[in-house]
Amino acid sequence: MQIYINGEYFEKADAKISVFDHGLLYGDGVFEGIRVYDNKVFRLDEHLERLYESAKAIDLTIPLSKDKLKKDTLEAVRRNKLTDAYIRLIVTRGIGSLGLNPYICGPPGIIIIVDKIALYPKELYEKGLALVTVATQRNLPEAVNPRIKSLNYLNNILAKIEAINAGVEEAIMLNSFGLVSECAGDNIFAVRKGILLTPSISMGVLEGITRNDVIRMAREKKIEVKQVVMTRHDLFIADECFLTGSAAEIVPVIKIDGRVIGDGRPGAITRDLMKSYHRLTRKEGVPVRSA
Ligand code: PMP
Repeated sequence: MQIYINGEYFEKADAKISVFDHGLLYGDGVFEGIRVYDNKVFRLDEHLERLYESAKAIDLTIPLSKDKLKKDTLEAVRRNKLTDAYIRLIVTRGIGSLGLNPYICGPPGIIIIVDKIALYPKELYEKGLALVTVATQRNLPEAVNPRIKSLNYLNNILAKIEAINAGVEEAIMLNSFGLVSECAGDNIFAVRKGILLTPSISMGVLEGITRNDVIRMAREKKIEVKQVVMTRHDLFIADECFLTGSAAEIVPVIKIDGRVIGDGRPGAITRDLMKSYHRLTRKEGVPVRSA
């Protein structure tokens, strides 16, 4: 494995950063998780755009142009010789002191890891996933806004711990109003009476790139899509439910807080979107070779 750190490549065992990097000391930094399918990087421009927006929101200036980082990302994939892969692109605040002040840190650390990922066991994509609602709330937009894909995932990890301890794989997180926001690492959708529903961004969710693709694909299929204020009740009475994310792709959900969703099997609209998304991911993308 060849890991990129600030323009240089290191073997996994030698890929090290300073213990004074505020990415480690405070979770001060931003990241993206990106898929490679069939030698093409899926939605690379969209991920880079969100990375730069997350950085902007925390007043972190990425020292490379978007174009240069795109070239470096493609090169990192090439070097790792994987045709299907998962890219973790990280920008840390950089080396600082033991105080919080980010303005005396730097330069920012840029890390690109290219590896394999399997988020959920394969059979869950056929059988569906069970979820529980957890007590840990999604971050307030007035605190670390969930739109920022920050290195500080502790809140989501606390939610994940609750889910795992309850015997399921993912957690539904509510916002401070008790409304559904998203899962610890995925966006959530429901289908009711043929209409696709998902919590609006203002509920405190990450604007998922897969979420945007699913909304677009559904509209192309003439399925009505509504970004809504969603309660747990809306999930309990849904005909179908699924999660989306770059790593997870589209995962059907068949049980929430012990309530069976629909007939307890992945729904027809969910399965159709899964198929279309599979095709989309193989069709589009930035070729790794041509850069
Ligand atoms: N919500 C959260 C909290 C996430 O961490 C992620 C990414 N793993 C998503 C949603 C999905 O976003 P995307 O489709 O852009 O990967």
